[in-house]
Amino acid sequence: VHRLTHPAQAHAALDLADGRGIVARGLGRSYGDAAQNAGGQVLLTTGMRGVTQFDPATGRITAEAGISIDELTRRTLPAGWFVPVTAGTRWITLGGAIASDIHGKNHHRDGSFGAHVVSLELQTPTGERLTLTPDGTPDRFWATAGGMGLTGIIVEATIQMVPVETSWMRVDTERARDLEDVLDRMARGDDGYRYSVAWIDLLAHGGALGRSILTRGDHATRAEVPEGAAYMAQGAPGTRLAAPRLVPPALLNRHSVGAFNELWYRRAPRSESGKARPLESFFYPLDGVRGWNRLYGPRGLVQYQLVVPLGQEACLRRIVARLRDADAPACLGVLKRLGGRRGLMSFPLAGWTLAVDFPARSPDLGRLLDDVDELVAGVGGRVYLAKDARLRPELLESMYPGLSRWREIRAALDPERSMRSDLARRMSL
Ligand SMILES: Cc1cc2nc3c(=O)[nH]c(=O)nc-3n(C[C@H](O)[C@H](O)[C@H](O)COP(=O)(O)OP(=O)(O)OC[C@H]3O[C@@H](n4cnc5c(N)ncnc54)[C@H](O)[C@@H]3O)c2cc1C
Repeated sequence: VHRLTHPAQAHAALDLADGRGIVARGLGRSYGDAAQNAGGQVLLTTGMRGVTQFDPATGRITAEAGISIDELTRRTLPAGWFVPVTAGTRWITLGGAIASDIHGKNHHRDGSFGAHVVSLELQTPTGERLTLTPDGTPDRFWATAGGMGLTGIIVEATIQMVPVETSWMRVDTERARDLEDVLDRMARGDDGYRYSVAWIDLLAHGGALGRSILTRGDHATRAEVPEGAAYMAQGAPGTRLAAPRLVPPALLNRHSVGAFNELWYRRAPRSESGKARPLESFFYPLDGVRGWNRLYGPRGLVQYQLVVPLGQEACLRRIVARLRDADAPACLGVLKRLGGRRGLMSFPLAGWTLAVDFPARSPDLGRLLDDVDELVAGVGGRVYLAKDARLRPELLESMYPGLSRWREIRAALDPERSMRSDLARRMSL
């Protein structure tokens, strides 16, 4: 592992690529093997995190790719600007957000991260430093946004932030009694909100399967901030809770998770509107629990995220039923409605996305997810490469129809295939 501390080092660093290749790594929050390169070289970008330019009048910011979303927001929020798209954790880098072309709770409205990148600087393994823009160089731009780090090193990017009056959210919460109910509520109501996400119970019995807590909101105006609170109250990230260091391997099982889900669902308001919530608790609930991943025991967790196109609700129903009947307990289910597709290898397409955590120790997990992959591929859906470490390569082409075009563009940018990761090897990318 080599640390980059300045964009100018990227050119020479790429010469370190040996037979096993080289790949950039940000904060390592992709769940799978996208930022790993066993036996090869890895360029850690987190030391390269300066802000080159920020215009508080327009909200346009240029920063080095290793800056975290946390730091980026700290720099811009006091001036009234927030990141246009954010993941469920702020501990990811600008480069990682572009390379995975991440989506947020606002994808149905604002698209993926790449849609807000004005330009990016790419250092290619052939020694070129390219300025890519969505209009000027759309092919190379959209092969890099969502390209999982395989077109070169993103060293810097300019993005357009979104204006906010406060660091608060105005949030509506409602309970949905089953899968049909939550799909219906999202299809009818999501367009009225900038952000929408549902926690979904994948273990509930009988007719309650898929019951959900739907949380939707928008940035609060100054008039909506609780009395006495600061408009821009963004505090230190702070973790309110910490997972214990030693957790029994089987702490999360069907019974304990089922009981938790029951409590969680009952505890949520049946319907509540206009509640002011701090931005961090709305966007980053998991960041509030230090070491949350330890709850899955020493073997850790597998996260799985799929999307099926709109109109394929019957397939989603089958998948949810398959997950309920499996031995592996589906622990944390998150459902979102995505808008359209942009990058050649970007994950989002107009459809329903479901993300689920499983304890990695579950014996039948491999077979279960292989089955679900088939269902997803069969209806033109796909799994998210940033969260994958196990998909069979033969399904990749049907899941990602832009693959062959992406390969052509990548071949021009990196003819020797120096950029390589475990994901790239596994998928023959
Ligand atoms: C709790 C949690 C919640 C999440 N929620 C979401 C979500 O809501 N939506 C979503 O889309 N994703 C989500 N993710 C996934 C995460 O946003 C992506 O995996 C993101 O890419 C991680 O960024 P990173 O800096 O950690 O990148 P890494 O994990 O280090 O790398 C990810 C990929 O980006 C490439 N890369 C990183 N930096 C560069 C660079 N400078 N140049 C070229 N390539 C680079 C790597 O090679 C690799 O292919 C979540 C992850 C966690 C842990």
